[in-house]
Amino acid sequence: MGNYRIGIDLGGTKIESVLLSPDGTELHRSRIPTPKDKVYSLVLNATHEQILDTAGQIPGDHPFSVGIGIPGAMDRRTGIIHKANTTCLIGKPFRHDLEQLLGQKIAMENDANCFTYIEALKGAGKGYGTLLGIIMGTGCGGGICINNTLWKGLHGMAGEWGHFAIDPLGRKCYCGNRGCVETKISGSGVEASFHEAFGRPMKMKEIVMGFRSQDPHCSRIFLQFLEDFGRVVGGLVSMFDPDAVVLGGGLSNIDELYDIGADRVSGYAFHKGTATPVLKNMLGDSAGVLGAAWL
Ligand SMILES: [Zn+2]
Repeated sequence: MGNYRIGIDLGGTKIESVLLSPDGTELHRSRIPTPKDKVYSLVLNATHEQILDTAGQIPGDHPFSVGIGIPGAMDRRTGIIHKANTTCLIGKPFRHDLEQLLGQKIAMENDANCFTYIEALKGAGKGYGTLLGIIMGTGCGGGICINNTLWKGLHGMAGEWGHFAIDPLGRKCYCGNRGCVETKISGSGVEASFHEAFGRPMKMKEIVMGFRSQDPHCSRIFLQFLEDFGRVVGGLVSMFDPDAVVLGGGLSNIDELYDIGADRVSGYAFHKGTATPVLKNMLGDSAGVLGAAWL
């Protein structure tokens, strides 16, 4: 009999946990808010308590594994978090500190890697040897999974396509560069482009609806979004030539990404007419926490 598995998805607003039985059945799920003032010790202790609470649901005295998805990248050589949306984690040995509190080893991965891993293992990417995970939401992230093994990279940042600085005249990105992909094709990036072009705010959802009802302003911005998506993901397809691409994050619900967008990907790839499937994720919002549990 294998171990019980605890998965934790540490996000900017909530810490979600899941408990899986040794056969993979989901037994328990809960979430608590991420401490508001985002002090490192508070986030560390809240994560620890969430693990203990979840472990309390395990019948008897069975051993369990713990996997954690974090909104950042951990340097594989030092164990130090070096990029994170939850900025109090930056520069901290989060995994080490948590292992000390818990008294056992834990697995830790970037949340986009958790997404790609579980989609490869049990979701839309199941059966594809090489899978490229593309997450587009408020930000852009990604991961690479080869034969059900994550390709992490020396600094734990493999697959971070959102910060290619492609436009020296573009908007400043929080990472310090200018004109990152994320400033163009994330939800907030597209909204900023609309505001810049037409001097009024417009939500991503409204831009998509506007395109569908042939509003000229929305159409211009939305088609540019699909063009940029194709240009960047087409480049990634040329680079990795994956067996499939799986999309996640809030923008992955936009149907046009799978026809017009996929067409642009093929058009911008080095080999014209690539047949790389662009797939919608299957596990939705659960991907992060399930991916962490299976790490
Ligand atoms: Zn950036």
